[in-house]
Amino acid sequence: MSPTSPASASADILLRKLSEFMQEHVYPAEAEVAAWQNDPQTRWLPCPRIEALKAQARDAGLWNLFLPDAEHGAGLSNRDYAPMAEQMGRVLWASEVFNCNAPDTGNMEVLAHFGNTDQKTKWLSPLLRGEIRSAFAMTEPEVASSDATNIALSIRTDGNDYVLNGRKWWITGAGDPRCAILIVMGVTNPEADKHARHSMVLVPMNTPGVRIARALEAFGFDDAPSGHMELVFENVRVPKSNLIGAEGSGFALAQARLGPGRIHHCMRLIGLAQRAQELMIERAKSRIAFGKPLGAQGMAQEMIALSHCEIAQARLLTLNAAAMLDAGGNKAAKNEIGMIKIVAPRMALQVIDRAIQLFGAEGLQHPFLPHAWVGARCLRLVDGPDEVHITSLARGLLK
Ligand SMILES: Cc1cc2nc3c(=O)[nH]c(=O)nc-3n(C[C@H](O)[C@H](O)[C@H](O)COP(=O)(O)OP(=O)(O)OC[C@H]3O[C@@H](n4cnc5c(N)ncnc54)[C@H](O)[C@@H]3O)c2cc1C
Repeated sequence: MSPTSPASASADILLRKLSEFMQEHVYPAEAEVAAWQNDPQTRWLPCPRIEALKAQARDAGLWNLFLPDAEHGAGLSNRDYAPMAEQMGRVLWASEVFNCNAPDTGNMEVLAHFGNTDQKTKWLSPLLRGEIRSAFAMTEPEVASSDATNIALSIRTDGNDYVLNGRKWWITGAGDPRCAILIVMGVTNPEADKHARHSMVLVPMNTPGVRIARALEAFGFDDAPSGHMELVFENVRVPKSNLIGAEGSGFALAQARLGPGRIHHCMRLIGLAQRAQELMIERAKSRIAFGKPLGAQGMAQEMIALSHCEIAQARLLTLNAAAMLDAGGNKAAKNEIGMIKIVAPRMALQVIDRAIQLFGAEGLQHPFLPHAWVGARCLRLVDGPDEVHITSLARGLLK
């Protein structure tokens, strides 16, 4: 078994099944999905082709593969799931087909680990079935949100209710008409120690006072229909039973949620970069400049060879982080998760940029490359900017 295969034989069979599904059903749907997502009339609505693929994937047993908990998910280790997430990452929308897309995956994990029975019945079950979507609302425009202790949205107690006031932005998934539930982080205990001030509360999207202020764009991409929304909370009232875990546990829950989430992003980035490299090779074989194919020119060869090395390095680091997470949990894998979160987006950006360069001007309006580059660029910020991971890794090493 190769070091990049899943660790267990049963997961290897599942990976093969997933790869076949990608070949037979997902790649052939790319043009139709792109047409839907580019049409101003339809782009903010769920794509019927993706919905049909979801039903097929579920019937094929390719569903909730991300969740190590065998009661609710496929029961795979992170190490076994990693090569599968890589396959899904090759198409920007493919993880949703297998109910393995962020931010729903992280939200399902929070509910599976920390939700009570009622919360699981009401929100986790329909999320696991793929009937609704969700969003995670932490970042705020007014404060440096890379430092989670800054989060300021107010969650005030009023009898048996909480009343929320504040503003969030870059809330992925909140634009989707199927987004039914938000996990909102805010301040419940302003006088407590800064790591014990925050809590997470479930807020149904249709609660009075929740308003979408606008859809945000990353370099012109709005990622409809999930979107990245700016949300306003004005006297939003929810029962206290919507609290996840204990009051003051928000910071700890955020840390728990982000460990596997970060690693999943990196796994998908490896697939994204791998696909860019394959496109680069195809182009290098077919495009003739100065009397010979680009692939016969030294500088193009260097781009291809270096990309191959860098993808392989990042893949092995990711698999190592996944194995550490399985063996010892978030705390034990802290440095390894930080390392891959620093390395994978930069690697993918470099590889995709080379592919764009090799495609010439066509690279700038290619159906895959520019969106892939923007996705990788966002991941130098999402779930904590590089600098936070670099600082924390360096501190750990200096200790
Ligand atoms: C496409 C996209 C999707 C997102 N989805 C979500 C979502 O679903 N939910 C959600 O809550 N948020 C989401 N975010 C927000 C993202 O998580 C935040 O942007 C990120 O955590 C950084 O917070 P900030 O923007 O407030 O930057 P700030 O905290 O203001 O930081 C700005 C910059 O300061 C520098 N910096 C910060 N700390 C340090 C340090 N210790 N040392 C040196 N320099 C430092 C870094 O360069 C950093 O980029 C998304 C963002 C994007 C781009």
